[in-house]
Amino acid sequence: MLYWNPKYECMDREELEVLQLARLKKTVDRVYHNVKPYREKMQKIGMTPGDIKSLDDLKSMPFTTKNDLRDSYPYGYFGAPMSEIIRIHASTGTTGKPTVAGYTKKDIDIWADIAARSLVAAGGGKDDIVQVSYGYGLFTGGLGMHYGGELLGASVVPTSSGNSQKQMMLMRDFGCTMLCCTPSYVLYLSEVMQEMNIKPSDLKLKAGVFGAEPWTEGMRKEIESRFGISAHNIYGLSEISGPGVGIDCFAKDGMHVPEDHFITEIINPDTGEVLPDGSLGELVFTCITKEGFPLIRYRTRDLTSVNREKCVCGRTNARIARIMGRSDDMLIIRGVNVFPSQVESALLDIGQTSPHYHLVVDRVDNLDVLEVQVEVSEDFFSDEVRKLESLEAKVRKKLDSILGISCKISLVEPKTLPRAEGKSIRVTDKRNLNF
Ligand code: ADP
Ligand code: ZN
Repeated sequence: MLYWNPKYECMDREELEVLQLARLKKTVDRVYHNVKPYREKMQKIGMTPGDIKSLDDLKSMPFTTKNDLRDSYPYGYFGAPMSEIIRIHASTGTTGKPTVAGYTKKDIDIWADIAARSLVAAGGGKDDIVQVSYGYGLFTGGLGMHYGGELLGASVVPTSSGNSQKQMMLMRDFGCTMLCCTPSYVLYLSEVMQEMNIKPSDLKLKAGVFGAEPWTEGMRKEIESRFGISAHNIYGLSEISGPGVGIDCFAKDGMHVPEDHFITEIINPDTGEVLPDGSLGELVFTCITKEGFPLIRYRTRDLTSVNREKCVCGRTNARIARIMGRSDDMLIIRGVNVFPSQVESALLDIGQTSPHYHLVVDRVDNLDVLEVQVEVSEDFFSDEVRKLESLEAKVRKKLDSILGISCKISLVEPKTLPRAEGKSIRVTDKRNLNF
């Protein structure tokens, strides 16, 4: 199966825009009448739903930020009465107090549909056995892929995260063909696989759908070669629905966004100006079919670019580039912007270290210091001090040149940094800076 929903995935852009406009009008009408903060914001600038006459008019609507949602925690932005809400999720809270999302029956059905589309884009079909190792609970990863897998007609194995030896045993014994989890967790599972003496050839696994946190192309290759599978990037956030807001097709040249449900903009995070396609900026989504939590121009704080050209897979739905990181993840060290993903790709380039790393930022004598803790790979690890010293120098040189600042490298023994079952925490910032 090439597409789950070819009508919408491959729709002509003109036709798609007509559909988007009709749906946008309906949504703006809904939020004006049902969501007090939106009505107030619109009234303040003298706007009524009737002012949306073209897609371009979306630009005159105000943005919605994570802080807006926090200010009206928990239900202030719900667009349907509680009697129609059948599910509540919350963001992981990676960057502060969680935000709360409510779903009507129709919202859950649409989300399942986009999650099914994602599995199909990653090569899945009804004969697949899909192991869902994202956490089940308030986090959207587990239940999102679960409903998607069931709608597709695949056999879903809801292992949730954790209990990694059992995960590997079930993956082998049940003949799971697809795996859904975070990239850090699949990396950890590859170590468990080795410890249990399971070989990739003992598994039926063919593809993985990995996301919920930033990762790099280098990490994709690493995971693909450790398991002998095709690894697909999936993007999602609870504010917009959950996993399935973006998915790699076989071309792996950006993640397709279901544009029949979400309008995508890229803005300059400092000025709010809408940027042309191809520019790097902050990703902004407008939900055009949601009822329970219909956010308008939601600022994700995720940095990427958008490409609206038709893809080689035949889909016309826009593609967002791999997320470089969130603006909150960006460290400013001695005035230089540093993303953990830059460190990850440098380390994977060098080899000899494992892709497990942690950044510690501190301020010593009024100067920012960045320490990069890196695990030496098992094959390379040795007691020979000279060998380790030369590896350290090599890593330092590479990172200095990529990041543009000097950093301290601490090589640590294999398997000593903490492993994540969900989203990994890559940075400890001891500076207590309050920007
Ligand atoms: P939180 O914002 O508290 O982590 P969520 O669990 O809803 O809450 O996570 C959504 C966020 O996770 C996104 O805004 C993005 O920063 C990150 N994310 C999700 N998928 C990906 C991905 N494939 N690549 C990079 N980042 C991702
Ligand atoms: Zn494609």
